[in-house]
Amino acid sequence: MKLTFWGAAGQVTGSMHMLKLDSGYTVLIDCGLDYENRDDFEANNRYFPFMPEDIHLVILTHAHIDHSGNLPNLIRQGFKGQILCTDPTVELAKNLLLDSLNVQRIESNRKNSARKSRKKSKRPAKSEQIATLYTKHHIELTHDAMVGIQFNRVFEVNDQLTIEFFPAGHILGAASVKLTVKEHGQTKSVGFTGDLGNYNSKLVVDPHAMPGLDYLITESTYGGRMHLHTSNAENLMLKYIEDTCVKYKGKLVIPAFSVGRTQSIIFTLNQLHTKGLLPPVKVYTDSPLAIKTTRLYTEFIEQLNDEAKTFFKANGKLFTFPNLYTIDEDFDSKMVSAMPEPAVIISAAGMVEGGRIQEHIRHNIGDAYSTILIAGYCAEGTLGAELLKGRPSVSINKKERQVYAKIERTDAFSAHPDQEGLMKYLEASDYKKLKQIFLVHGDPDSLTKFKERIGLDSAVIPEMEQEFTL
Ligand SMILES: [Zn+2]
Repeated sequence: MKLTFWGAAGQVTGSMHMLKLDSGYTVLIDCGLDYENRDDFEANNRYFPFMPEDIHLVILTHAHIDHSGNLPNLIRQGFKGQILCTDPTVELAKNLLLDSLNVQRIESNRKNSARKSRKKSKRPAKSEQIATLYTKHHIELTHDAMVGIQFNRVFEVNDQLTIEFFPAGHILGAASVKLTVKEHGQTKSVGFTGDLGNYNSKLVVDPHAMPGLDYLITESTYGGRMHLHTSNAENLMLKYIEDTCVKYKGKLVIPAFSVGRTQSIIFTLNQLHTKGLLPPVKVYTDSPLAIKTTRLYTEFIEQLNDEAKTFFKANGKLFTFPNLYTIDEDFDSKMVSAMPEPAVIISAAGMVEGGRIQEHIRHNIGDAYSTILIAGYCAEGTLGAELLKGRPSVSINKKERQVYAKIERTDAFSAHPDQEGLMKYLEASDYKKLKQIFLVHGDPDSLTKFKERIGLDSAVIPEMEQEFTL
């Protein structure tokens, strides 16, 4: 069989790996959007480096767009098979794909009007306009093609191939997948971690290692570093709220991804509230996608960790408490930011690229009593990364803004393990016995440092489009 890396090789986004059996049966593992460089979005995502109709089966590890976001395009271009994933992923992916389509629409309108003004003519001809990669119809077809299968059950695809999902932590429904292939009288197993979660995360279970593998493809997002300030999420949130909202009457603005991080933060605040420790400050969540996702987290509560289930049993709810408000109108969104009273504002997206969070940052960045708390990974070039550099000013919507608000960072809500966590996972995978360990889903620095830490010749960093015979 042959394994080819079509995405997330030497970079974080665009996960897409292909396993082709010698019989010709071809499986695509994840089909994510590559958004390493906003200007290359079209070139990197519109066409596939293979014929979509030649793929027999897709396995989707989890709903995040860098793993699922190009599936409707794959269907648009001829893929006719099934997409295997977990039940929560079926529902989460639909919401995320619709949100992604919306972002694509905004972005293509922006590019089309920029071209229009450059050309100093009327609208570019229809054939010249940049269109979205797919439409709502293709998202519906994607949803119809998805088949939910359970964790820890061997699923027989055909005489040659079985697959099994293992809980990966990370976000609701996230799976690692083990593919066992019988060919030429031999049996070989290939595991792909998908995105792993942190050990002892809020809400989600710890990642489960896959037993009996010959090959492992592992994510390496934080392969090069250790997490900061992770000790106790509740104490940490309490400290930020007291320091910012109680002491200085300022706003605590938290950029957070709508799927996973927002729910972890709200749950932590609810835990504080239940213990009577949460100060009487209003908390706003400002992301329609986060609201839908929060509903799904409650619906699939049996898949969450014991801490969440015990809390639910005792309190009957995970994500509601008296001072929590959700905003789903743009108008409210602007009003909240402009209000003089102290508040906690949790809004998307986590890297502070576009979305409503950018408005909240713009409103509060000049206020020395406010704090912006970066709670996750920020890719180079994003506003989040710029804020973390501690610059005296940053550019928001092409306008330079002085930074007076405090900029803080925490990894307490990180959805990925750090280097130690990844090594713990590898230990549980008996990694020294593996024939090869492929390191993907990391920037070049993280990949190199992770490879050094593993210290084995079997650890390889595949290049984009590189093919391996297993
Ligand atoms: Zn992910």
